[in-house]
Amino acid sequence: MSIASIKAQLAQYGINPNRALGQNFLADDDAAEAIAASCKGAVIEIGPGMGALTEKLLNREAPVAAIEIDRRMAEILRSRFGDKLILVEGDALKANIKAVAQSLGGEVSVAGNLPYYITTPICTRLITCGANIRYMTLMMQKEAAERFFAEPGDRVYGPLTVLAQHYYDINTLLRLSREAYYPQPEVDSVVLCLERKQAEAHPALQWVLESAFAMRRKTLANNLKAAGISDKRLNEICEAVGIGGNIRAERLTTAQFAAISGEIEKGGK
Ligand code: SAM
Repeated sequence: MSIASIKAQLAQYGINPNRALGQNFLADDDAAEAIAASCKGAVIEIGPGMGALTEKLLNREAPVAAIEIDRRMAEILRSRFGDKLILVEGDALKANIKAVAQSLGGEVSVAGNLPYYITTPICTRLITCGANIRYMTLMMQKEAAERFFAEPGDRVYGPLTVLAQHYYDINTLLRLSREAYYPQPEVDSVVLCLERKQAEAHPALQWVLESAFAMRRKTLANNLKAAGISDKRLNEICEAVGIGGNIRAERLTTAQFAAISGEIEKGGK
């Protein structure tokens, strides 16, 4: 969709973009085509808006489900795509993504021009919700994308970094300037491609990360104890993983977090 056609569509439906919902619509057909081309099989789209990306996804002839919170957008999507699109009206942070994936046949790709205010929670949810998501192609603000490539000690290194790097290979597909959107956001964007790798499943990993990073300036030992790990277990876990409890979470590698999770899964808290 061009900026002119986005404006025309908004005018036709009497809609003002809702900034609180991160409504910066994509006005770059080549980018939308590239995102659609990177998906494999059935796709779940997060935040379809007026359908700039949805249209390209539907052209691929594999089923597409889209989760949209704004009723006004849902109305436009229904009139544009009818029954071709499986529209889930609601909050992507609350929707049962696993059930949506199962309804599409199991293994899915996820795509989306993510609303900036839910980037971290929705990515975390996509990784941890138990749905069979093999590929993700996600457009986000440049600063948010940095989190996916961060290394221990970096300012933006955190739970999402570790979850994403443990379960997925991550590559940059596109960089887009702010001019590729209407209304224009204040920052540039990046499109990341994530492909699931053969990684051991660690059901405790999310809990470990949330606990370990709860207070960034505190040590691993203090954070894990505050989350309910006994002194005895803490010593056993640190010894098994080969780390000291005085380290801060931001210094631990993805492999060390996976090892801590493995110890907790084996021997409890
Ligand atoms: N995909 C469209 C495009 O590229 O033009 C719209 C992208 S716009 C950045 C984000 C979209 O996500 C908006 O349509 C917005 O209403 C929707 N949205 C915002 N918060 C949401 C949430 N929690 N769950 C589902 N959709 C949401």
